[in-house]
Amino acid sequence: MPELPEVETIRRQLVPELKSRSIKKVDVRLPKMVRGRLAAYKKNISGSKIINVGRRGKLLVISMANNYSFLIHLKMTGQIIHRRGQKTKAGGHPIKDGAVNLPNKYTHIIWYLSGGGVLYFNDIRQFGFTKLIKTEELENFYNDLKLGPEPLKKQFTMDFFKSLLRRRGGMKVKQLLLDQTAIAGIGNIYAAEACFDARIMPTRRAGSLSSPEALKLYRAIKKILIKAIVAQGTSSQNYVDAHGNPGGYFPKLKVYSRGGQACFRCHSKIKSIKLGGRTTTFCPQCQK
Ligand SMILES: [Zn+2]
Repeated sequence: MPELPEVETIRRQLVPELKSRSIKKVDVRLPKMVRGRLAAYKKNISGSKIINVGRRGKLLVISMANNYSFLIHLKMTGQIIHRRGQKTKAGGHPIKDGAVNLPNKYTHIIWYLSGGGVLYFNDIRQFGFTKLIKTEELENFYNDLKLGPEPLKKQFTMDFFKSLLRRRGGMKVKQLLLDQTAIAGIGNIYAAEACFDARIMPTRRAGSLSSPEALKLYRAIKKILIKAIVAQGTSSQNYVDAHGNPGGYFPKLKVYSRGGQACFRCHSKIKSIKLGGRTTTFCPQCQK
């Protein structure tokens, strides 16, 4: 699933392509991917000018001059592709040949833009969605979802993190990091990487972390996410050449997807377990 760094990478790629463009038409090929009323969705998007491309957690938030916004959530296997002429920008879940012939069988929503650009929403498993919402109601929507703070914004302070560890002390550390109501945007990749960086076992109870450990984990979360954004994410893909190379953070992964391989720090074998149904990798030697 694309996490904060992957969605942020898509957002940054889309800003110059979408900002100040008008949406000429939206083609909804699979209505179930639109949450809320389909007619209102089409009516309020068609002919509207895009004024901002934002992000909240793993949600892309595209705001329009008519005071409406539409959200895009890529969920497990969603992919966003923008194409104008020969120029293609893509992000999200890697889909083999997903950007080769567009639209293709995975393309469920298409936004046609002024200036010749086209935005495609591909999704293999169709868990992703888009939703229209009044821009002034966005904050209420996030509150209804009980979305936690953005980990790279000022609101995510060490005091907040300490109180979170206390309040949810019974939860396992990794599961707490994955919980979008605790902190927004972290998923399986960066939760595992942050625990490794802080040398904390992902199965520890949140309440058992000492003050120095909590500080290490807090710093690790920020550091890992920033590095991943700079590297343009792990699963984010650039399909310019249609070969689908992994995002730049992939070679920097220390534990995620490295089960059975040697730890870069101590050379022990990285262990892979299931935690809450999700594959969880860690070094049994240098994570405590
Ligand atoms: Zn190790």
